[in-house]
Amino acid sequence: MATPGKFSYKNFTDELRERLSIVDVVGRRVPLTKKGQNYWGCCPFHNEKTPSFCVSEDKGFCKCFGCGESGDIISFTMKVNNMDFKSAIEELANMAGMKMPEYKPRDPRIVQREESLFDICEQACKLYQEKLFTVDGAHALEYVRGRGFTDEMIAKYRIGYAPKNNLIAGKFNNAKQLIDSGLCRRGDYGMYDFFRDKLMFPIFNAKGKVVAFSGRSLDGSEPKYINTTDTDIFHKRSTVFGFNFARESIHRANRSIVVEGQIDAIKMQVNGFGETVAPLGTALTEEHINLLCKSNRNIVFCFDGDTAGQKAAARACGIVMPFLRDTSDIKFAFVSGGKDPDEILKTGGVDAMSKIIDEATNLTDFLWELANKNYVVATPGGRAQAEKFLDSQLEKIADTELRKHYKQEYDKRKFQTWQSWKKPKAVINIKLPDIDSISKNTLVYIVNNYPELAEKYLDFLGTLGIDFDGDVPDLGMTIEAAEKYIVLLKLQRYLDKLNLQKKELINQRLMGNEDVRDEISKTDEEIKKYTEKLQLLTRL
Ligand SMILES: [Zn+2]
Repeated sequence: MATPGKFSYKNFTDELRERLSIVDVVGRRVPLTKKGQNYWGCCPFHNEKTPSFCVSEDKGFCKCFGCGESGDIISFTMKVNNMDFKSAIEELANMAGMKMPEYKPRDPRIVQREESLFDICEQACKLYQEKLFTVDGAHALEYVRGRGFTDEMIAKYRIGYAPKNNLIAGKFNNAKQLIDSGLCRRGDYGMYDFFRDKLMFPIFNAKGKVVAFSGRSLDGSEPKYINTTDTDIFHKRSTVFGFNFARESIHRANRSIVVEGQIDAIKMQVNGFGETVAPLGTALTEEHINLLCKSNRNIVFCFDGDTAGQKAAARACGIVMPFLRDTSDIKFAFVSGGKDPDEILKTGGVDAMSKIIDEATNLTDFLWELANKNYVVATPGGRAQAEKFLDSQLEKIADTELRKHYKQEYDKRKFQTWQSWKKPKAVINIKLPDIDSISKNTLVYIVNNYPELAEKYLDFLGTLGIDFDGDVPDLGMTIEAAEKYIVLLKLQRYLDKLNLQKKELINQRLMGNEDVRDEISKTDEEIKKYTEKLQLLTRL
């Protein structure tokens, strides 16, 4: 039977189970290897040489198929350390970075207060939902439908409308609870609603209870979204939008997708990416990642392709490092062109979005790109900075074996890529032969007869080293023919230059410079491209 004392620990142990992965807990004592869905190691409770101790991340449970010993994080910690219940959770709380609750029955008044906050939020949610379909909420309904929300979606996500006047403040008589719920504030003229004239998105806890709201402005005023401030039942740092709906899918899809906005998260969820969530208008926190990593450690971060998005991705990368396992699959996807996932889905459909997700950059490459982009790796100082940056990130990886492999990977890349900067780049000076006298005369004729062409092609004509003064016979060219002549000549000269360049590169390679290999193939491609262009133009 549950005593009040047990009740307080129950919440705490639930939270421990939520925060800590059994693979981490067992993995500290027993080296584990992943095989299939589960992890295996040698049983710490009986003597064995081949692993029969199985740990299931999903179930949060371990079991020995040799001696039959089994348990969750708490009973494992108790048995393996020969500890009592209290010491075991103390040890685990330490691991999770959590404070132990006072060892006393939970104050029934606190429990009751939380219950009443859940209750107020639930009732408010219903009121907002009703309001959306009244005259007051017509513009909100129009807006949300305009964003592509069906009535079914509106119902599922319990989207509502907070009117311009006070809806909540007058409904309940317990002023303190209203303030504690974040729904109302006290002003000079009494209580007033915090959310007014807003499209309301309820925020649910993992169990699907309404704990807070996010209100979107409808009149174009900034900020676009305001959220309930933290309350006893809502902590922004550890809540991700859409998680209650995404839980199942995260398990099934064996990954989660993190987008920036809640509308994006909803659109993703209803378009087949049920595993999508969004942080609540804040930057991503460790607690967010922790929550997502409970069922698996595969995350696709989906950010805007702009500078802010790149920065957010870099931040996310830093936060996710401590959570890496050898089986983790962390990726970074960018939505470019100033669009967000909602617009991608609208314009390109699920295929376009899938493509973006599928082509996401994995963490190894992303980190490498960051190091190369943020530091001037062409200089020794820049390389030193980039190296320090990489090291500081890798240090965060808890699994030492994995850290070692990351280090090796980057050592290899540093050697392959950064070495080449240390050698001076091949210097190629190409000098094209002077232009022949017939071409020269033609150009002098064109420049003197069509000054507009002379101006248009000044840059090119200037490189030819011709003296344009002087008389030449009238060649009777039209302006079109004259322009075509210049363009063809320009193309031909460029191709001549490319061919000479290629010859020089091949010479350098014959002398043992392997670094020019890429440049040779690049030059080849250019030659091919411009030859085709020239042929096309000649035929015209
Ligand atoms: Zn055993």
